[in-house]
Amino acid sequence: MTFLNKILEKAYENHNLSREDIVFLLKSNGEELYKYSDKVREEYVGNGVHLRGLIEFSNICKCQCKYCGLRCPNNKVDRYRLEPDEIIEYAQKGVDLGYKTIVLQSGEDSFFDVEKLCYIISEIKKKDVALTLSIGERSYEEYKQMKAAGADRYLLRIETTDKSLYSNMHPNMSYENRVRCLKDIKSLGYETGTGCLVGLPGQSVESLADDILFFKSLDADMVGIGPFIPHPDTPLKSDLNSDNFNMALKVMAVTRLLLPDINIPATTAMETLNPNGRIIALKSGANVVMPNIMESKLKVKYEIYPGKICLNDKSDKCRGCIENKIKSIGRFVSPDKGFRGK
Ligand code: SAH
Repeated sequence: MTFLNKILEKAYENHNLSREDIVFLLKSNGEELYKYSDKVREEYVGNGVHLRGLIEFSNICKCQCKYCGLRCPNNKVDRYRLEPDEIIEYAQKGVDLGYKTIVLQSGEDSFFDVEKLCYIISEIKKKDVALTLSIGERSYEEYKQMKAAGADRYLLRIETTDKSLYSNMHPNMSYENRVRCLKDIKSLGYETGTGCLVGLPGQSVESLADDILFFKSLDADMVGIGPFIPHPDTPLKSDLNSDNFNMALKVMAVTRLLLPDINIPATTAMETLNPNGRIIALKSGANVVMPNIMESKLKVKYEIYPGKICLNDKSDKCRGCIENKIKSIGRFVSPDKGFRGK
């Protein structure tokens, strides 16, 4: 047995790896790794793929994340925000399309105070659907009220666990507060999602291994890994690294080995860098896809990175298209809400 196979067998048996072993896997070409991560995915979460209908309800953001096209200093963005009742209507559309989970995502837009958010959450929760929030950093009290209003899950990527890279990428934000948010979210009983960007300038393979160990130590219920894609109107516009897709796929696959029963999306950013990216991801450990249910004229304005897919497609077409792709690889769209381990 090769050294590589020994590490993979160890991960397959006990879902633990040292930092050195993870680095070794991330430096491999990935072929053997994907065989194992796909096998673990099938054994622990089966062949069902959970679809989550994504509503990007505001692109207004007070943050300055250097990689993100929606950063506050970018004055080329045509800003929009939906009214609470428009968001609820979109959620209804998602339910009508058959989605069992609605994901509400936005920039950090303080117009949406906790009262407005709780109203939106409780209205959507009348529709027999799971609800995920992805709206950034808030206080413990706000997370608590939104949970009480009915929110089931929360996505907040740590982005990177390299503290000096974190502070360089996020002016006026702190790594400690990001971790505090994740711990609050977890302790309040949300299904907790985190994840990282792969390919940030100056990011090392060792720090990606630390990111994976962070997901494990948090016992994250969902992990989204995305390749970094430079946006032309940000300070990182010329920082493209050609290997981001493959490295993101490997980080995702190792995450599946260490957290075998969690939900892992085939991210839209992967499909942006590779026309078959989501299917490749589904065959390498992923079990979730998050199609957008917004109309085209808003989708184009939510440009966190350039080249987003399916911008001109109507939401019913997206739903049908991804379902066909899922069936073409012998998988099926899950009829369940898709909580961890269910
Ligand atoms: N404001 C929310 C939602 C952020 S957008 C929050 O803070 O959680 C969702 C994710 O898009 C981010 O977590 C980030 O990882 C990713 N993202 C932002 N800019 C990107 C880029 N240029 N390339 C790839 N992914 C990016």
